[in-house]
Amino acid sequence: ERLVGASADREDQAVEAALRPKDLGEFIGQEKVREQLDLVLRAARARGATADHVLLSGAPGLGKTTLSMIIAAEMGAPIRITSGPAIQHAGDLAAILSSLQEGEVLFLDEIHRMSRPAEEMLYMAMEDFRVDVIVGKGPGATAIPLELPPFTLVGATTRAGLLPPPLRDRFGFTAHMEFYEPAELERVIHRSANLLDVEIDTDGAAEIAGRSRGTPRIANRLLRRVRDYAQVKADGIITREIAAAALQVYEVDARGLDRLDRGVLEALLKLFGGGPVGLSTLAVAVGEERETVEEVAEPFLVREGLLARTPRGRVATPAAWAHLGLTPPRSGAA
Ligand code: ATP
Repeated sequence: ERLVGASADREDQAVEAALRPKDLGEFIGQEKVREQLDLVLRAARARGATADHVLLSGAPGLGKTTLSMIIAAEMGAPIRITSGPAIQHAGDLAAILSSLQEGEVLFLDEIHRMSRPAEEMLYMAMEDFRVDVIVGKGPGATAIPLELPPFTLVGATTRAGLLPPPLRDRFGFTAHMEFYEPAELERVIHRSANLLDVEIDTDGAAEIAGRSRGTPRIANRLLRRVRDYAQVKADGIITREIAAAALQVYEVDARGLDRLDRGVLEALLKLFGGGPVGLSTLAVAVGEERETVEEVAEPFLVREGLLARTPRGRVATPAAWAHLGLTPPRSGAA
C-alpha cells in the first residue's frame, strides 16, 4: 500500500468512521456542493418528501461516502451501503431494493461497475419505485412487478462520464467533488488531530496539508504517521519541523510525491533529458510495469503540471526540473 494512495487501506477503514464529519456544517470545503445539497435536502424536508437521487462524482478519498452518510443523517433516514461490483446479478439488487425502508438512503459506490441487467433494473426502480422480478427461464419466464418504498439513491463514481446517459439522467442532482485546497486540508487536519487527541500547530498542519495531494483521506493518513514520529522522536507535538522530518522518513516529499513518482520524474529528467520518451522505455528505466507508471504515478504528476503526455511521448515540464532542483540541458527545454 502506498502512503499517498487515495484508496482506503485496512487502517483507514478502521479509523475513518471516527473521523467522519456527521453533518453538512462539519463537512469542510466543497462549498458549492454543500450549498446546493443543503438546498436540495432542506426543500425535501420542507415538503416531507424523500430527497431526490444524488450522484457524487470525484476521485477516491474526497468524501463521497462521508457525504452519503451526511445526506441520510440530514434526512433523519437510515442508510444502506453497497457497491457496484458487489451487485453481480439483478436479483442481488432486487433483494436490496425490496428490503429498503421508506425514505432510506441507498449508497451505491462505484456505480459505474454494476452489471448491465442490474443497471436496467435500477432505471425503473429510480424512476417508478418499482422493479420487475423475472421468475423462471426461457419462454415460460414471467415478470412479477414489485412496488418499492420511495428511497434516495446516492450513487458514487470516479467519473460521471463513465455512466450511461440513461442512468445519469435519472439523478435529480449531480455533485462534482473537487480536490481540496491546502487551506481546507489544514482544517481537516486540525479537526482530525483534535478528535485523535494529537497536538499540532498551524505550521505543522500546513506542512502535512501541502503533501496530501488535495485528498482528505491522505491528509488523515499522513497525520497518523507524523503522530507516530512525534511520539517516538519528540514530545508528541507536531510542528513544521517534525512533520517534515517524519515525512522525509516515509519518503513523501514537499509536494506529496513519493518514491515511485520521484523515480519516474528523475528517470525522465536524468536519463532522457526531460523527454519526449515513450511510456514503455520510461517504465523499463524505472523498473516498473508500464501500467504502474501510467495508472499509478502519472495521473498525479500530470495533475501537478510536472509531466505532460504528448503524442511523441512523455515530456517533463519546467516545473519538474525546478521541483527536483535540476537545470534543463538547453534553454529550449525550459
Ligand atoms: P472512496 O471513493 O475511496 O470510497 P470517498 O470519496 O468515499 O472515498 P470518504 O471515505 O468519504 O471518501 O472519506 C475519506 C476520509 O476523509 C474520511 O475519514 C473522512 O473523514 C475524511 N473526509 C473526507 N471529506 C472530508 C471533509 N470534507 N471534511 C473532513 N473530513 C473529510
